[in-house]
Amino acid sequence: METASIFGISRHRMRTDGDGVTTLVTFTGCPLRCKYCLNPQCFKPEDSFPCYTPSELYDIVKKDNLYFLATGGGITFGGGEPALRGAFIREFRQLCGREWHLCMETSLNVPGDFLPPLVKDLDFFIVDIKDMDPEIYRAYTGKDNAKVLENLRMIATAGRADDCTIRIPLIPGYNTDEDRDRSIAALKELGFSKFDKFTYRYGKR
Ligand code: SF4
Repeated sequence: METASIFGISRHRMRTDGDGVTTLVTFTGCPLRCKYCLNPQCFKPEDSFPCYTPSELYDIVKKDNLYFLATGGGITFGGGEPALRGAFIREFRQLCGREWHLCMETSLNVPGDFLPPLVKDLDFFIVDIKDMDPEIYRAYTGKDNAKVLENLRMIATAGRADDCTIRIPLIPGYNTDEDRDRSIAALKELGFSKFDKFTYRYGKR
């Protein structure tokens, strides 16, 4: 049976990470090593946190069913990297049905075969792109962004670009406003149109 280590279940969030009232569920594990990591807990050993099956998680979060239905809200999966938990999310979708809005906050830096099932199961994606420039991306995350570009193309080809908000951070010491403008231009070329520009304000790890 599918299980996942979850380090947070945060209820009653209003329009912070999805439409309506949402519950944010955060998984451990992430392939990146961002210099200003927002969620360093995700790197602790899996057994530091409770492990749930999709059914156990559903039993916890369904207490907000009426809020979700009344506001068009639901569950936002975050982390860590929730795109690594496709099988878990698939089982969860079967339990909650199509009425809940399921969203994911992701870097998209996962193997391409992880994405197609998620594109079917999720209603919306919030993609933290870091920067589209491969050198800036590598300097900031320690990883290559080839998989990110491949997965962005896959989402656009599937006709789901309008179901994505792309977060474009200004990363002090790593990119500039001009770099962000270049990222936005490249993303528009791919067919994306919803952008959230913001500035990281965290200390280096
Ligand atoms: S993608 Fe998110 S969780 Fe992973 S290292 Fe970067 S900030 Fe941390």
